[in-house]
Amino acid sequence: MRLHWHRRDLRVADNRALAAAAEGEVLPVFVFDPTVLDHAGPARVAFLLDSLDALREDYRDRGGGLVVAHGDPAEELPRLADEHGAEAVFWNHDYTGLARERDRRVESALDDADIDHETFHDAVHHEPGAITTNDGDPYAVFSYFGKKWLDREKESSYPPPNGDALRAGDDDLPTSDDLGFDEPDATLPEAGTEAARDRLDSFCEAAIGEYETEREYPARAGTSRLSQDLKYGTIGIREVSERVAEAADRADGDDVRESIETYREELAWREFYTQVLRYNPEVVTENYSSYENPIEWRESDDDLDAWKDGETGYPIVDAGMRQLHEEAYIHNRVRMIVAAFLTKDLLLDWRAGYDHFRELLVDHDTANDNGGWQWAASTGTDAQPYFRVFNPMTQGERYDPDAEYIKTYVPELDDVDPDDIHSWHELSEDERADVAPDYPDPICDHGERREEAIAMFERARGDE
Ligand code: FAD
Repeated sequence: MRLHWHRRDLRVADNRALAAAAEGEVLPVFVFDPTVLDHAGPARVAFLLDSLDALREDYRDRGGGLVVAHGDPAEELPRLADEHGAEAVFWNHDYTGLARERDRRVESALDDADIDHETFHDAVHHEPGAITTNDGDPYAVFSYFGKKWLDREKESSYPPPNGDALRAGDDDLPTSDDLGFDEPDATLPEAGTEAARDRLDSFCEAAIGEYETEREYPARAGTSRLSQDLKYGTIGIREVSERVAEAADRADGDDVRESIETYREELAWREFYTQVLRYNPEVVTENYSSYENPIEWRESDDDLDAWKDGETGYPIVDAGMRQLHEEAYIHNRVRMIVAAFLTKDLLLDWRAGYDHFRELLVDHDTANDNGGWQWAASTGTDAQPYFRVFNPMTQGERYDPDAEYIKTYVPELDDVDPDDIHSWHELSEDERADVAPDYPDPICDHGERREEAIAMFERARGDE
């Protein structure tokens, strides 16, 4: 009998290690690891618990169940194997530095206990190290990686285990409170494979065909909303790609085909950042690209708090930060805008923004979050050039012209004309007080800060 150790693969279908373990008899287990929980926030804990509940239900429907333990996996897995008479433990790779270090400890504890272990690559189509330069090095820029990723054949999805392979074992799941977390303030998406499949199917039926253009507009439902599912593995990447390929087969017209290819490219970005993190675990706290001199980030708790609270007086920024509080999610275009604002307008260190996202995002993924932040801060792999600074007002005007997104999250601006919203920084204090007395004045002058940001990077580059 084998144990399957679930981690970021909270599903029964299209799960490589589980499919392999289920060639014999298998007992699925999940271990609440205090070290992992130390890095989590209430939204992610709640989504994790809901996903585990859905997973347990999927096992029960097949005549199985889920065993739950708490503690250091290097102690718990040998103990569970011994208790249930398992001769091996199977699991899927996780590529963060923390997870790899933990897995090495688990492997050595299992070796000491004379228990076999087998691990599989599963979370991405092409494992870090599979797509390299001609010299065999990991790519440091996306374009070549992305092209090879798009061209390379994709593996098919794996079937779920047969009911007769599953050993029954059923434990209670803890509550957020039991794990030391508050219930989240945010409203979260439904968890579990069925909910993820519903999101994927409805996206592939229509929106994917207009993804190329619609994905840029935060007020529209133009993206797949699968990020938390891909993070927790409530749906397998091979299954996602199969639905996307079916949509491509049905595609009518070049625009639709191009949109689908753009969507596939975003999935490739996810795998690119996974390999960046796998080969550069230090990027979690360090700049990927080094400058000649340290970047002289400002320090201001007041500005950081205004950004976190969505009180900067820059409407699209505030809408994004309030969406984060309400939904534990921000639209991609707006993630770029709020991250650029923190680093290039407030001149605050990207790490403060990353920590806040990590605490609040339901889809926080170390690789993607870090990649996104370092891109915006001009410190990453394919980083935004330091002299190309997003203008939050023109971004708002271009991507939320009717201020529909802004008004959804910033009710103080409900009755304000979109033109006034998009030129909020140009209105006089009296005009602002007249049209929206409860909404703050801009906390900084974008034009001045843009110049300061460029000068800050030039000093870091040693240009001055
Ligand atoms: P879709 O547009 O439908 O994309 C499909 C999937 O592709 C996503 O679910 C995601 O897995 C992947 N993807 C899309 N865009 C990117 C990208 N730029 N980089 C890497 N993968 C991508 N994504 C996360 O999954 N977790 C994070 O913690 C995260 N933090 C970010 C922080 C910043 C500052 C920025 C600029 C981006 C961040 N992203 C993150 C990337 C992107 O914003 C989200 O993946 C996307 O908004 C999720 O919505 P969706 O599932 O509807 O995306």
